[in-house]
Amino acid sequence: METFDYVIIGAGSAGSVLANRLGEDPANRICVLEAGGKDWHPYIHLPAGFIKTFHMKSVNWAYQQEPGPWTGGRSIYAPRGKTLGGSSSINGHIYNRGQRQDFDTWAQLGNRGWGYPDVLPYFKRLERRVGEGDETYRGREGRLTVTTMDWNDPLCEAFMEGAVSLGIPRNPDYNGAIQEGVSYCQRTIENGLRMSAAKAFLHPARKRGNVDVRTHAHVTNIIFEGKRAVGVRYLKGGKGGTPVEVRANKEVILSGGAYNSPQVLQLSGVGSPELLQLHGIEVRHALPGVGEGLQDHYAPRSVARVKNIQTINELRRGLSLWVEALKWATTRRGLLSLSPTMVYCFWHSGETTESSDLQLTFTPASYKEGVQGQLEDEPGMTVASWQQRPESRGYVRIRSADPFVPPIIQTNYLVEDIDRRVVVAGMKLARRLLASAPLAPYYAYEDFPGPKVQSDDEFLAAATERGTTTFHPGCTCRMGPADARWAVVDDQLRVHGLQGLRVVDASIMPRMISANLNASTLMIADKASDMIRGKTAPEAVRFPVSA
Ligand SMILES: Cc1cc2nc3c(=O)[nH]c(=O)nc-3n(C[C@H](O)[C@H](O)[C@H](O)COP(=O)(O)OP(=O)(O)OC[C@H]3O[C@@H](n4cnc5c(N)ncnc54)[C@H](O)[C@@H]3O)c2cc1C
Repeated sequence: METFDYVIIGAGSAGSVLANRLGEDPANRICVLEAGGKDWHPYIHLPAGFIKTFHMKSVNWAYQQEPGPWTGGRSIYAPRGKTLGGSSSINGHIYNRGQRQDFDTWAQLGNRGWGYPDVLPYFKRLERRVGEGDETYRGREGRLTVTTMDWNDPLCEAFMEGAVSLGIPRNPDYNGAIQEGVSYCQRTIENGLRMSAAKAFLHPARKRGNVDVRTHAHVTNIIFEGKRAVGVRYLKGGKGGTPVEVRANKEVILSGGAYNSPQVLQLSGVGSPELLQLHGIEVRHALPGVGEGLQDHYAPRSVARVKNIQTINELRRGLSLWVEALKWATTRRGLLSLSPTMVYCFWHSGETTESSDLQLTFTPASYKEGVQGQLEDEPGMTVASWQQRPESRGYVRIRSADPFVPPIIQTNYLVEDIDRRVVVAGMKLARRLLASAPLAPYYAYEDFPGPKVQSDDEFLAAATERGTTTFHPGCTCRMGPADARWAVVDDQLRVHGLQGLRVVDASIMPRMISANLNASTLMIADKASDMIRGKTAPEAVRFPVSA
């Protein structure tokens, strides 16, 4: 059996950072196992290509969630990256860290060293911020390039003015001191190309010679000796492929993402004994929290028809598209360099809400049936709105002992009353924003939810009819103290009760944060790399005590 120091399962956002950092030590030999293929497809690198990779099975796990009690009987589509870079290779490129209180809450749950002053140095260390940013918060020397949206669009400007007219201030940097306000979005895009975690971290790591990245290596289970993880079994070539085992001298690190990490643990006999026995899997280690606690952001998308101006809907057709293609080829700017969202707005659902609990995004485009992925033919604009820190929790559980059968994904969107109230508040704010005076020259009429929807119950019904995931699943292998029944890993990300095994990815978040999850997943992996290497963490940031 081949032996490495570390075996990393999954070359996604977290796996890429880990490979890079652990590989900095030339003595370390690292094997990275990725179920997907290489990230060669041009649609991965062209920012607007996300519309294509969204459904492309060659780079996407393309999961379906189970219908939930508040999704109107619908099974919601759940894309996940399956290639080098993982979901960072098919995501919407938005760079959003979240709020100070998100991480302080993680620390308050019993996780030492995870408060905002502790994690901020890692956010800074990872990024190369181009453009505006206070040096207290922003990094300039990391590998991950973060730029600001550079598309001049009168509709975006009018939307921002509309927000200001409603009392929502412009915020030059929502990743700085304060998140609240309206801003152009920041993206992981450099020179008109996607900056995936593979591009920023994994590919440079491979050049060092001590990181062996294996694609089409579908991990079926972790190998244990007693309570110690000693290696990994995978099928070379995927389903029906050749079984291969690799050994880890030091550690196995599971970075399969919020859906697949709990699945791999359960397939390896780590999880709820009832669930494992149901599928005939021998219980290696009883850990009832595995897969439980799934959280995600649920977003209805409000749409208005547009007049007197072109939207992206028309630009992506016929001659206009050729003009845009030429623009991208010569300047690396224009339509093909765009993210799915252009403006971000963070606000609160009630006057007494402590910090912004609503996230709204604006796009001068609209999608068929209010779903992302396929643009409509007639001009439209969209505001997606979601609750930043939902309380509802679901689960990920294996459906079968067959590693190629997708797990059961039940997100339980909106089961908590507060979530329903905040989502309704978000839709009402979206309506006011779209109908604001500065947008009036372009606003034809509200298409969804439509003028018939007036009461809270009607808004809620519309939300259940059309809401979708914002692609931010997390919290399925939560970090917490050993005596917490829900906890899967400790604050060093070691699996409770086992040796030689850590989980490092979005699944370890104990609670949903006020953000899209890529930035914080990269931060988690960077912090984990110091723990694994036994390096001292950077000094916590000291903030001036406010009066
Ligand atoms: C369509 C979409 C849009 C998004 N938009 C944004 C956005 O704009 N901004 C943002 O911040 N976040 C966004 N996200 C979310 C963000 O990209 C993810 O939260 C983040 O990438 C998660 O990182 P991860 O390391 O936890 O998992 P992933 O990056 O998904 O990595 C997991 C890796 O493990 C591999 N793997 C899984 N199981 C196995 C197995 N059994 N064997 C071998 N390999 C395996 C997978 O193929 C994958 O490469 C989006 C996500 C999607 C899908």
